[in-house]
Amino acid sequence: MVVKLGGSVITDKRRPFVVKRATLRRLARELAAAKQPLVVVHGGGSFGHPVASKYGIAEGYKNKNQLMGLSLTHRAMERLNVNVIEALQKAGLPAIAVQPSACVVVSGGQIQSMELAPIKKLLELGIVPVLYGDAVPDLSKGMSILSGDQIVAYLALKLEASRVILGVDVDGVCTANPKKAKHVEIVRRITPADEKLIASLGAAEGKDVTGGMGNKVRELLALAERGVEAEIVNATKPGILKRAVRGERELGTIVGR
Ligand code: ADP
Repeated sequence: MVVKLGGSVITDKRRPFVVKRATLRRLARELAAAKQPLVVVHGGGSFGHPVASKYGIAEGYKNKNQLMGLSLTHRAMERLNVNVIEALQKAGLPAIAVQPSACVVVSGGQIQSMELAPIKKLLELGIVPVLYGDAVPDLSKGMSILSGDQIVAYLALKLEASRVILGVDVDGVCTANPKKAKHVEIVRRITPADEKLIASLGAAEGKDVTGGMGNKVRELLALAERGVEAEIVNATKPGILKRAVRGERELGTIVGR
């Protein structure tokens, strides 16, 4: 099972470098209810995005300032990651960080390959590998931002995940951005045929260099086309993630075929 904790869920997106500690503690306990091997991926929230955006990391390598920017963005993500790891440990989950910038080969912002042997071994041992959106070397652009969502889709495919859950701060994919529009409906199932809706999906609030719900859904649709379904659920509401990891479905939006 691959579970993502959205950056918007575990950090305060409006205040740089602020972890939502109580939420993170609760989600760690909810994840501890998982019965099968678990990989956790988390986003950047107010740790990664502001620094990455300040240095234009996602635009690729253009000037020397960005070298420190890459270093600082990665460090910001490591700082958030330490919080996630410690919360999981306190909930009884033996978690180990796997640094994406060191094991994923990225070109043009896309994953080319990933060293999976250590991750597979960790899972076999009963350990929870924890990855995160990261600032990475990019073989063609020099540097780029690898989103947690991309990592989720890649790992779910390669590890043949039986369940893929993305915890976000809204009830699922909606007919319009629920943070902006008043009258929105939750879309219970989204498939590649929903072209109009997919094209309309907007960005996140605050600073976000990986594109909010639109890119998330596009990553998951590509995964669905290869036979792996995912579900987007609201992780800010207590108990939803726990029910999802326990196998309950239709708690948010299913991204499928
Ligand atoms: P995360 O940080 O969890 O990866 P993001 O903040 O990047 O998630 O993306 C989720 C956000 O996308 C929501 O909080 C919402 O503001 C925004 N969004 C834009 N369009 C939609 C939509 N149609 N349905 C749901 N959320 C949307």
